[in-house]
Amino acid sequence: MDNEAEQGGNGGARSVLIVDDDDAIREAMHEFIDRFGFVVHSAVTAEEALEKLSATAVDVVITDIILPGKDGLELTDEISHHYDCAVIVMTGYSGNYSYEDAIHKGANDFVFKPVRFEELLLRLRRVLRERDLARERDRIVKELETLAITDGLTQLYNSRHFYCQLEVEAGRCVRYNQALALLLMDIDHFKNFNDAYGHLEGDKALVRLGQVIKSCLRQIDSAYRYGGEEFTVLLPETRTEEASIVAYRIRDAVKSQAFYPQPGGPVVNLTISIGVAEYLPPEDIASFVQRADKAMYASKQNGRDRVSILAA
Ligand code: GH3
Ligand code: MG
Ligand code: MG
Repeated sequence: MDNEAEQGGNGGARSVLIVDDDDAIREAMHEFIDRFGFVVHSAVTAEEALEKLSATAVDVVITDIILPGKDGLELTDEISHHYDCAVIVMTGYSGNYSYEDAIHKGANDFVFKPVRFEELLLRLRRVLRERDLARERDRIVKELETLAITDGLTQLYNSRHFYCQLEVEAGRCVRYNQALALLLMDIDHFKNFNDAYGHLEGDKALVRLGQVIKSCLRQIDSAYRYGGEEFTVLLPETRTEEASIVAYRIRDAVKSQAFYPQPGGPVVNLTISIGVAEYLPPEDIASFVQRADKAMYASKQNGRDRVSILAA
C-alpha cells in the first residue's frame, strides 16, 4: 500500500468526500478509499455535502450526478466557485450528461458507473497531483510577482513599482479629485560613509534607513528605493502641509539613528535631504517627479539634513 501519495504538502492525510445516495455504492467506495490512507467523509445529498465542506477541509469530492434535490453538476458548480477543492463526477452510461457538461461546471475528472475502484483510485491520485502542481505554480508566480516589485537589498518596493504606482495614484487623483504627495530623499554624504567604513556597512545602513522610513508612514503610504541611496514615498490623499509633517518626521528619525560601523568605534549618524511635491493635475508624471527632485536638490543646496517644498 502506497500511502505516501496520500499525504498533503503539510504531511497531513488527504481528505475525500463521497457523495452518493446509493448506500451500497457509497459505503463500498468509502471502505475501498479508506484503505489507501485517505480521510474519507461521505454524504447522501449535495446539501449535506455542502454542509460538510463548510465544516471540514476536503481535497477532493467524488460525486454522483443524479442525487435527490440539488444534483451533482449543481454541486460541482457551487464547489468550483466557493471551495478550494477538486471534484470527480460519476455518471452512468445511460445518463443524459456528458463529459463536457461536467468539465464546464468545473469538474476535474469524470468516471462512468459502475465505477472500477482501481480506476477511481488512479484518477483520484492524478487529480491530487495536478492540484499540488497548480498550487506550486501559483506559489511560484506569487513569489516572482513579489520579487519583480521588491528591492533586493532593502526589501522596500523598487523603482519600477514606484512608477507603476505613481501612474495609478495620479490617475486616481484626476478621476476622484484627490490629493497626492511625493517625497524624494537622498542620504547626505553617503559616499563618505562608504569610503570610511566600507560598502557592506553602507548596505547595512541603507537597509536600516529603509525600515526607518517605512516606520514613519501610514498604512496607505508606500516607500520605494528609487536608486542607490535615494528613496521615494507616495502619500495618497495627502496635501503638501501633511506631507511636510511626514517628511520632517522621517528627517528626525533618520538623524536619531545610531550606527556603529566599526566595532568599538564611535557612534556615527546619518542625515537625509528631502524634497516634497504635491501632484498638480494634469501635469505628467515626469514633471511631478522632477519638481520633487528639484525640492530635494534645494535641501542639498541649503545645507542638507532638511525638508524643502518648491512653490508650484
Ligand atoms: P550628497 O549629500 O550630495 O548626496 O552626497 P553623496 O555622497 O550621498 O552623493 P553622491 O551622489 O556623490 O554619492 C552617492 C553614493 O551612494 C555613492 C555610493 O558610494 C553610495 N551608494 C549608492 N548606492 C549604494 C549601495 O547600493 N550600497 C552602498 N553601500 N552605497 C551606495
Ligand atoms: Mg544620490
Ligand atoms: Mg546622497
